Amino acid sequence: MTAPSLNTTRSQELFHAAQALMPGGVSSPVRAFKSVGGQPIVFDRVKGPYAWDVDDNKYIDYIGSWGPAICGHAHPEVIGALQETIEKGTSFGAPCSLENTLAEMVIDAVPSVEMVRFVNSGTEACMAVLRLMRAYTGRDKVIKFEGCYHGHADMFLVKAGSGVATLGLPDSPGVPRSTTANTLTAPYNDLEAVKQLFAENPEAIAGVILEPIVGNAGFIQPEPGFLEGLRELTKEHGALLVFDEVMTGFRISYGGAQAHFGVTPDLTTMGKVIGGGLPVGAYGGRREIMEMVAPAGPMYQAGTLSGNPLAMTAGIKTLELLKQPGSYEKLTATTEKLVAGIKEAATAAGLPISAGSVSAMFGFFLCEGPVRNFEEAKATDAARFGKLHRAMLERGVYLAPSAFEAGFTSLAHSDTDIESTIQAFRESFAAVA
Ligand SMILES: *Cc1c(COP(=O)(O)O)cnc(C)c1O
Repeated sequence: MTAPSLNTTRSQELFHAAQALMPGGVSSPVRAFKSVGGQPIVFDRVKGPYAWDVDDNKYIDYIGSWGPAICGHAHPEVIGALQETIEKGTSFGAPCSLENTLAEMVIDAVPSVEMVRFVNSGTEACMAVLRLMRAYTGRDKVIKFEGCYHGHADMFLVKAGSGVATLGLPDSPGVPRSTTANTLTAPYNDLEAVKQLFAENPEAIAGVILEPIVGNAGFIQPEPGFLEGLRELTKEHGALLVFDEVMTGFRISYGGAQAHFGVTPDLTTMGKVIGGGLPVGAYGGRREIMEMVAPAGPMYQAGTLSGNPLAMTAGIKTLELLKQPGSYEKLTATTEKLVAGIKEAATAAGLPISAGSVSAMFGFFLCEGPVRNFEEAKATDAARFGKLHRAMLERGVYLAPSAFEAGFTSLAHSDTDIESTIQAFRESFAAVA
């Protein structure tokens, strides 16, 4: 099989120039293709399930701007609403009625959320929720899980998966040891490890934060009883349970992963989908906890551009589209068809595969599986994934440039798109086998 050739001359020129201007040539690290090798593709425009690069190659996109584009890129109704809103200005720095509208929608949809605060990114939402956990409980320590990502705030940058993790050693230079000393870590899906941390730190743990389905260590699902067990343990110890639904919110179901699993946390962080492609994050939860947030309460948190009309508009329109009957059934059917195709294609090429999906989120590991935690995810064949990524790119499919990122489908991905993608997987798996 000869690989089709991909002309990326202009992408290469632009990336070369970008490297002199911005660290690593990008505004966010994973975009740089470092973990798959080769050079990143510079996009020119996106529409529906597709992206076009600056050399005019067209790709079927399974990142969707890392999650927000669940209705498809540049949905005409989202763009139309934004055009109308922008006529009134881009930011007020004062209350705006659109905040009420989106807040009501989020509160109606997400079981744990009785009040919400809008911010500008998932990172901000997670930073603020950590402060709130501590403010509410009067305790300093938090438990996070290896391989879970909660944005780039200091306290969450604790090296995942190694012995140092339990010592709370920082993952990045520039993060003082004192900052992460209160961050305890446990392997995902390991309830016993969490029990032990609670036993070792009596009345010192403010709460437990996790991705209810992991998307930042590859796609890893909670085992039956794990979320329920965390709910019980946190209650028992007077600690808070926080679901970081920045990725899963409005993607796993209209009520997020918490509605899907029927486990209600105390607090929830959101981002990605609720911004419809504009910078938005949010955190919310029980009224009595949220009323600690300034100016209702003493916990300070603020934002110049928070709740701005453009971001609220894109979020409102995106949620309206998702709320229409049949949306999640369609997303589920599309994703299941894709994952069945990926499994069949890998098996046909004689490669081990562990693949799965829930609603519009999917992932696969090049191993027999099942993959239950980050240690197991890291043991999979990263070098082969890099080659597969390139082979798929050459066949017009844009996957996340890392073996440790979930994939995303959208309402815009058609049966034909899925079939072409599966054909590309067949050829690519064969090419890297
Ligand atoms: C993306 C992500 C974040 C960080 O959100 P940003 O908007 O990139 O700051 C936090 N938590 C989870 C689970 C995420 O997927």
